[in-house]
Amino acid sequence: MRLLSNRLNIYIFSISFLGIIAFFLSLELKPYTTSEWVTLFALTGSVLALNHFHIQLPPKGNTLSMDSTVFLASLFLYGVDTTLVVLFLNASIFAFTQRESAWWKHLLNFAIYSFMIISSSYTFIFTGGEVGNVHLKNLIPYISALGTYYSVNVLLVGIYFLLSDKDSLGRALKEMIKDSLATYLSTLLLSLVLMILLHAQNLFGLFLFACIAFLLSQAFKQHFELYKEVADKANKDFLTGLNNHGYFKELLEKELTAARESEKPLSVALIDIDDFKKYNDLFGHIRGDQVLKEFGALIKKEAESKGYSVARYGGEEFSFLMPNTNSQDAFKFLNDVRKKTNNTHFKGVESLPYGCLSFSAGIAEWEKETLNTTELLNKADQALYSTKDQGKNLVQIYNEHTDYSVQRSLNLEKELAEAEHQLKMFLSKDVYTYRHSKRVYQYAVDFSKKLNLSDHERKTLILGALVHDIGKIEIPRDILNKKGKLEAHEWEIMKKHVTWGKEIISIDKKLEDLVPLVELHHERYDGKGYPYGLKGKTIPKLARILCIIDSFDAMTTERPYQQTKTFAEGIAELRKWSGRQFDPQFVEPFINMIELTYNVEECETLLAEEIG
Ligand code: GH3
Ligand code: MG
Ligand code: MG
Repeated sequence: MRLLSNRLNIYIFSISFLGIIAFFLSLELKPYTTSEWVTLFALTGSVLALNHFHIQLPPKGNTLSMDSTVFLASLFLYGVDTTLVVLFLNASIFAFTQRESAWWKHLLNFAIYSFMIISSSYTFIFTGGEVGNVHLKNLIPYISALGTYYSVNVLLVGIYFLLSDKDSLGRALKEMIKDSLATYLSTLLLSLVLMILLHAQNLFGLFLFACIAFLLSQAFKQHFELYKEVADKANKDFLTGLNNHGYFKELLEKELTAARESEKPLSVALIDIDDFKKYNDLFGHIRGDQVLKEFGALIKKEAESKGYSVARYGGEEFSFLMPNTNSQDAFKFLNDVRKKTNNTHFKGVESLPYGCLSFSAGIAEWEKETLNTTELLNKADQALYSTKDQGKNLVQIYNEHTDYSVQRSLNLEKELAEAEHQLKMFLSKDVYTYRHSKRVYQYAVDFSKKLNLSDHERKTLILGALVHDIGKIEIPRDILNKKGKLEAHEWEIMKKHVTWGKEIISIDKKLEDLVPLVELHHERYDGKGYPYGLKGKTIPKLARILCIIDSFDAMTTERPYQQTKTFAEGIAELRKWSGRQFDPQFVEPFINMIELTYNVEECETLLAEEIG
C-alpha cells in the first residue's frame, strides 16, 4: 500500500469502520425462501453484469457503473435488508475476484455503498415511501431517496479525493459533479424503470433491463472510441503521425506548470532540417514528404526511448519536449539524434551539401525567470537560427549572454569582409570590375531595403551583388582591358565569366546560396540571355533582381566596349527593356529606389568626375 497522508488514513479507517457498523445495525437477517434466494442471486448477478458492462465517459474515459440502479430498485421493492445482502454478496465476490485492488479499497467501497443505501432508505421511509408498492404517491420519497443516494456518494468520495490530492473540497466536488452528474442522474432514474419492470415481470423484467443496460454500455463504448479517434486526429500531424504544433503547445503548457511546481528541469528543442528546399527542388515534394515521414519515425523512436515527446512544429521543423532534463543532457541527446540522422540513409541525400540528411537544433531550458512558453520557444528558436549561421548540422544551447540579433548582422559583416578581401584581387588586374562590384553591392543594399525579402534572401542578394563578377578574374587581361569593341570570339570568352564564377564560388559550401546569382545574372527575362537561355520565373528571383542592378550600373558607367549613359538615360533604358531583358515586377521599384535614394543630377556629376 502506498504511503498515504495521516488525515487520509484516518478518513479511510473511520468511514470503513462506521460503514460496517451501520451495515450490521441496519441488517435484520431473516430466513429467506427459495424464491427470495433466487431473487437475491439474480440481483447480485445483475449488479456484477452491470459492473462489467459499464459506461465509459469522455474525455478521460472515467467509467460509470449502473449497479446503483439495481441497489435502488431493490431498496424500493424489497427494502434495506435485501439490498444490503445483495451489496454484501457483491462486495465479497469482488474482494475475491479483484485481488489486484488493495483490501482497504474494497472495504472503503463497501462502507460507502452501505452509507448510501442506508441513508436513502431512511430518507425514503421518512418522506412517506412505502416499500414494495409501486405507486405515484411515492414520487416525492423516490426523488428524495435518489437525491440522498447521490449526495452521500458525492460527499464521501469528494472528501476522499480532497484528502488524497490535496485539492480543495469545492474543486473536487465540482470535478466529480461536472464529469458524472447527467449520466449518474439517468442511472438513478432508470432505477425507477427497473423497479417497475421487476414489479410487473419479476426476473424477466430484470433480464430485460440487463439486456438494455448491455446495449447501452456497448453504444457508449463505441461512442467513446469514436471520441478517442477524433481527439487523436485533432492532435496528430497528418503526414508524420507525430503530435502537431497545437498539441505540442498544449503539452508544453502543462509541462511548464509541472516544472514550476516541482522545480524540476525542463528543456525544449526546436530543430530544422538543413537545406530541405534543395531536396524538394531535386526530387520533388512527394519524395520530400517521404523523407519527412521517415525522419519523423526516427526521431520519434529516439524521443520515446527517453520518455520525451516529439512534434512536427511545421514544415520541416520539429520540436522536442524533454521533462526532467537540463540543457546539458538535452544537448547530449540531440547531438546523438543528429549523428544518427547523419548516419541513416534516406534516398537521394547524397546530393545535399553534407552528403546526408542533417538538421540544426536550438535548445532552451526553463528557468525561474522564464515568463511563459512563448519566451522559452523564442530562446530555442534563436539558438536554432544561430546554428544555421554557423554552418548548420549543429546543436546549440541558448545562451543568455549572446546577443543573437547582433550576431546575425555580425555574420553578414564578417562574410562581406571576406568577400571583399577576395574581390581586392581585381584591384591589380581589373579596377573597373572591383569598383563596379562595390557599386552594385551598394545598390543591392539600398534596393533590398525596399523589397519584401526574408533576412536570408537579403543577405544572399547583398553578398551575391558583391561577388557576382568573380569569374572575370579568369579572363585574360587583354580582353578585360581592351579599349573598343570585342571580337566575337572574345565575347564568347567574356561570357564564360558566369560559369567560371560559379566554379570559384562552389568551392566554398558556405557560399553555395550565391551560386544562382553568380551564374544566372546574365539570363534575360525573355529567355535570350546566357549561359542557359532561361526564361521568366525559371530564373531565380534574386538573379532577376541582380540582373537589373548590374545592367543599370553597366549602362551608367563607362565600359571599354559601350557608351556611358546618364542616370536618366539608364532609367529610360530599363523601362524600354522591361518585360524583355528585365523582370517588369522589379523595374519600377528599382527606378523608384534610384530616384529616391540618389539625387540623379548629382550622380551625373560624380560619375563624370570618376570617369574623368
Ligand atoms: P535551411 O538549411 O536554412 O533550413 O534551408 P531549408 O531549405 O531547409 O529552409 P527553408 O526554411 O528556406 O525552406 C524550408 C523548405 O522545406 C521549404 C519547403 O520546400 C520544404 N517543406 C516545408 N514543408 C514541407 C512539406 O510538408 N513537404 C515537403 N516535401 N517539403 C516541405
Ligand atoms: Mg525551415
Ligand atoms: Mg530547413
